[in-house]
Amino acid sequence: MSSENSHECKSDEFLEVISEKSGQDIGNCYQCGKCTAGCPMAAQMDLPPSMVMRYMQMGISEELKKASSRWDCVGCLVCGDRCPKLCNPASVMEALRVDDIKSGRRVAELSDLPVNFVKKAPQQALVSGLRKYVP
Ligand code: SF4
Ligand code: SF4
Repeated sequence: MSSENSHECKSDEFLEVISEKSGQDIGNCYQCGKCTAGCPMAAQMDLPPSMVMRYMQMGISEELKKASSRWDCVGCLVCGDRCPKLCNPASVMEALRVDDIKSGRRVAELSDLPVNFVKKAPQQALVSGLRKYVP
């Protein structure tokens, strides 16, 4: 997970899966907070993108599993655009969502969405809107 010039990271199997799926070298994040400052959903999140990166570095996997911010993420990619270290927290968010779905831990329910949105949105938006980066 870490490379030359990156911070040492604690890890476990869950964190290794998320790192691998996201394709991110989590140790490169130096916690400047620019991703969170630009995230349009940060105010709604229990764990904004910079903190997700920090929890990954610190090996706080149980709290990471409990957090729901990945389901507030709208996949806009602003976080990655702003990162001076070329990290992409959006990919980490998606890897966490995919892991949620695969493990049955938590999924976004259709009933969580506003009825008017569901009636008007194309099916493709519902299926692919948050599945852009992780296979
Ligand atoms: S902008 Fe990049 S380096 Fe800064 S906190 Fe976010 S992920 Fe880490
Ligand atoms: S992709 Fe997600 S985490 Fe990144 S800025 Fe957009 S809403 Fe925030």
